Amino acid sequence: MATQAYIALGSNQGDRQAHLAGALADLGSLPGVTLVSQSPTYETDPVGGPAGQGRFLNSVAAVNTDLSPKQLLESLHQIEADHGRDRKAETQRCAPRTLDLDILLFGNQIINHPEPSCDTLKPHPSSLTPNLTIPHPRMHHRDFVLRPLCHIAPDVVHPILKRTIRELLIELETPAK
Ligand code: ADP
Ligand code: MG
Repeated sequence: MATQAYIALGSNQGDRQAHLAGALADLGSLPGVTLVSQSPTYETDPVGGPAGQGRFLNSVAAVNTDLSPKQLLESLHQIEADHGRDRKAETQRCAPRTLDLDILLFGNQIINHPEPSCDTLKPHPSSLTPNLTIPHPRMHHRDFVLRPLCHIAPDVVHPILKRTIRELLIELETPAK
């Protein structure tokens, strides 16, 4: 049975539009992956990372896949490399990148979260989360992820936070009192 997964795409180096379009085409041609829908593209300010880096283009794609989460991540890393991303040359977190592909959601699966049963998310013990973690541990803090995701999946429920993407976006955009 295929699983519906959501993938965030981002680029702030080189021909950003070409990297996003190319990555979508590459995603759709992976064996075991069918592209279902894609969000509009947003231009966003970089969050974190070195001062002065360029603005990002961001979007989100929905896919149906027979791959495992790990196989999908490996394929995403290959597509990033094919678009000129050299992770070994990235000396700091949130460095500029030609292409960033993150798995946001993979069906209702919860992978590698320290306390998957609670309905709030504690900060992940490692801010780098080198191990595949699903849902993506920072997705609910990121406007540049939730806005495009809300376009294609407003009613999908975050399996840990138990709130829809629309609710998470409203919460993020509502200033704290
Ligand atoms: P980010 O995308 O959060 O800005 P990076 O692209 O530099 O950060 O990825 C850092 C690490 O996060 C990678 O080594 C990757 O294996 C790991 N990772 C953990 N969970 C995920 C996920 N759900 N999607 C993509 N990468 C993930
Ligand atoms: Mg990434």
